[in-house]
Amino acid sequence: MADIRIVLCRPSHPGNIGAAARAMKTMGFSDLRLVAPQRPPAPQDEWMATHAADVLAAARTHATLAEAIADCAAAFALSARPREWSPQVLDVRAAATRAASVAAPVAFVFGSESAGLTNDELFACQFLVHIPAAPGASSLNLAQAVQVVCYELHMAQGPSVPGMRTEKLATVEDIEGLYGHLEEAATSTGFMAPGSRLRERWRRLFSRVPGLEREEVNILRGLLKSLLKK
Ligand code: SAH
Repeated sequence: MADIRIVLCRPSHPGNIGAAARAMKTMGFSDLRLVAPQRPPAPQDEWMATHAADVLAAARTHATLAEAIADCAAAFALSARPREWSPQVLDVRAAATRAASVAAPVAFVFGSESAGLTNDELFACQFLVHIPAAPGASSLNLAQAVQVVCYELHMAQGPSVPGMRTEKLATVEDIEGLYGHLEEAATSTGFMAPGSRLRERWRRLFSRVPGLEREEVNILRGLLKSLLKK
């Protein structure tokens, strides 16, 4: 995964800077850059930065966007507005997937609350990224746009869900064994009429269950075996 950098161009609202820092922190990112912020750092920046004061404190300020992304291998410009002329357009999910495959620093560049990104800033980047949204109301709050981008980047890394158990999956051999037991039970009880399509039906049924666990298949096989014994 690339090192992800979040760049805010001319942000004006201290709450947005703090909330952006928090959005980054919750998704495991910490490299925040401010380009020509419209006001000097203030204590209010921390108000929305719960648990992310460290990201805020480490944020670097640059005079220009060029300086903020000089060492990046790729830069993705975020804008709600479609533009007649722009770098290659991607939706946010495709952008995150692409960024995740780059083994170098990658920047996601956001515009100011009032005016968005300038054309020059847009063309300093290689991609224009849209967050799909409702037509006519597609402009997200700055920090919320940062959250969506960081979430998609996090998902593109293949995050692990806490508490998720990883069970051994059933193999083809296990499942064929289950089919064998089903057939034995169905024929020996006379349930399966000659020429019946039962075999195909249960194959269809189990093919719709992705990720069958070995333990689950063994329970069904054990049950059939014990019924057959009686
Ligand atoms: N009023 C500004 C937009 C402000 S929103 C304008 O007209 O352009 C602040 C920033 O959040 C935008 O510059 C952009 O970087 C990001 N953003 C908001 N909504 C977005 C969306 N739907 N897709 C991509 N980026 C978005």
